Amino acid sequence: MKQYDVIVIGGGHAGAEAARAAAAVYGPVALITHRFDRIGVMSCNPAIGGLGKGHLVREIDAMDGVMGRAADHAGIQFRLLNRRKGPAVQGPRAQCDRALYRDFIQGELSHASGLSIIEGEVTDLVVEAGRVSGVVIDGEQTLRCRAVVLTTGTFLDGIIHIGDSRRSGGRVGDAAASRLAARIRDLGLATGRLKTGTPPRLHRDTIDFSVLEAQPGDEDPTLFSFLSGSVSAPQVPCHITRTSERTHEIIRQNLDRSAMYGGYIDGVGPRYCPSIEDKVVRFEDRSSHQIFLEPEGIGDPLIYPNGISTSLPAEVQEAYVRSIEGLERAEIVQPGYAIEYDYVDPRSLTDTLEVRALPGLYLAGQINGTTGYEEASAQGLIAGANAALAEQGPALTFDRADGYIGVMVDDLVTKGVAEPYRMFTSRAEFRLMLRADNADQRLTEKARKAGLVSDARWVAFQQKMEALDRSRKALSAEAYSSRVLAERGIRINQDGTKRTILELLGFSDISKDDLAAAFPELRDIERGVLQQLCNEAIYANYLPRQEAMIAQMRAEEERALPENIDYGSISGLSSELRQKLSERRPQTLGQASRIEGMTPAALALILVTAKSAERSGLSEAQAKV
Ligand code: FAD
Repeated sequence: MKQYDVIVIGGGHAGAEAARAAAAVYGPVALITHRFDRIGVMSCNPAIGGLGKGHLVREIDAMDGVMGRAADHAGIQFRLLNRRKGPAVQGPRAQCDRALYRDFIQGELSHASGLSIIEGEVTDLVVEAGRVSGVVIDGEQTLRCRAVVLTTGTFLDGIIHIGDSRRSGGRVGDAAASRLAARIRDLGLATGRLKTGTPPRLHRDTIDFSVLEAQPGDEDPTLFSFLSGSVSAPQVPCHITRTSERTHEIIRQNLDRSAMYGGYIDGVGPRYCPSIEDKVVRFEDRSSHQIFLEPEGIGDPLIYPNGISTSLPAEVQEAYVRSIEGLERAEIVQPGYAIEYDYVDPRSLTDTLEVRALPGLYLAGQINGTTGYEEASAQGLIAGANAALAEQGPALTFDRADGYIGVMVDDLVTKGVAEPYRMFTSRAEFRLMLRADNADQRLTEKARKAGLVSDARWVAFQQKMEALDRSRKALSAEAYSSRVLAERGIRINQDGTKRTILELLGFSDISKDDLAAAFPELRDIERGVLQQLCNEAIYANYLPRQEAMIAQMRAEEERALPENIDYGSISGLSSELRQKLSERRPQTLGQASRIEGMTPAALALILVTAKSAERSGLSEAQAKV
């Protein structure tokens, strides 16, 4: 019987980061997954990043995760979303070559030191003395370990729906994990059903691109990794088309045949990623919806029509696809489908993603009710690192001011999910500080202390910090009056205030070219460093207020709540709050404050009770001595 420190179950996006992170911190680590050649597979859209999600990828990269480098390696079209808005809400996104992405992840894991990859299905968890201490593979082989990270994605009792046909499956081409799903329910974990869907895949040669608008990538691609210098794969355009009145008519006529509208699916779907049936019903007054035709890879004949995910029968899919401009003769290679699967209520987890009632078991990814590769990878990194750190050092946790990663974990463990959870910039209250460009400044040092960051990244990070510091000092050394600035060709308000070059970088109406003509020293600053200083300058006036809010939040976060509080007996609390607090058992006053329905008066009562629980804990301990 082989002994590992950490065993990760599942080689999807969460599993890949979890295994890599755990092995970097402490080994030996085993990754057990159905098939090696399916590690790093993108089940749906071959694209990484986007609004909010791009921030997560930067944060994963800042902690030496693999996703950002894989997306840069495989990116065939890079676009910075929200380019016209402020840098805080811009989202880097890359269309990826599916095969290049998967191969990169497989290569990284194959070469990770301290990591063994085992093919097989985990059918059971070994539980001894109230904690998880191993797994059973294919019903026969037991492997022991100190901690298990479960990242089974959409596989737990997955059911694939196309129209009224349904069959068991983790996704198309893969079997569901039914025995493990049953075991998880037996263990008493609170589970529910969610669903998601994917569009039909079209053959590239059957699409008439000549009538469609081409959408090229950005001329100056924004990469994900702080270590990447340039794109490596050939760059290609996407194309744009739209649904027609006829498309909507076909869908309306067949709604009762859709798995979702025909009443065949119980699970709740992602509101922000609606199926085409959903869009036609919910936005009845719209006569058309945009569709992006995205290549699945350079040599790949498949096109992913982003915007028409569906669970209608295959023949209806064919009819509506052919009612769309440019797709009149399109061949469907793989019909779209919906998948329904078990998830575990994330309110049963701590902020390290460990199951509170079952120490040694960590959950990450879609199993926690999220949707998306980026959300899954970010959780994988946290769960993998903490599973490995558990007996080695302090836990690696993040609050809402550390990053989107902290926002997501806090949302999950305090609020739970009512639908598949995806990241948006609007979820982050401190988003002016949590920009994609400064993810390394927020997280690299913290991750390095936990043992996650390689020497090469650490050296590159330190060099960047020195360059930033040097440039910041140089650009704020002297302040110029508006008269002097006018002499150099820069026109600003004659308000009598002297301004440094650093401050001028934040003026949206002064072009960078004019500024560089006036102050040639700007040309000597490395592009990334200069961009970072511009972003800091843009928000300089707002940051002190956010910093004050963060200080207040952190004070509440530092107020730990003792485990032994009996919330049911706090008189003065509503029965609803008593129940929520008893179920969720917040670890800090901050977490308690974010439970829906919480009031300042209720928080004050909790604080008083916490103090008295601590006093009674102390006197019990003294009595024992
Ligand atoms: P996955 O990537 O699903 O990986 C799970 C891994 O676990 C697999 O490698 C599997 O083989 C392995 N595994 C499972 N059980 C076992 C076991 N018992 N033993 C060993 N190995 C096991 N996301 C979006 O953001 N937008 C979308 O529109 C969208 N649509 C989707 C449509 C479909 C049909 C599917 C299937 C997914 C869709 N997703 C979408 C979700 C996206 O694919 C997931 O969010 C992401 O892949 C989750 O990553 P994960 O690591 O949690 O799980």
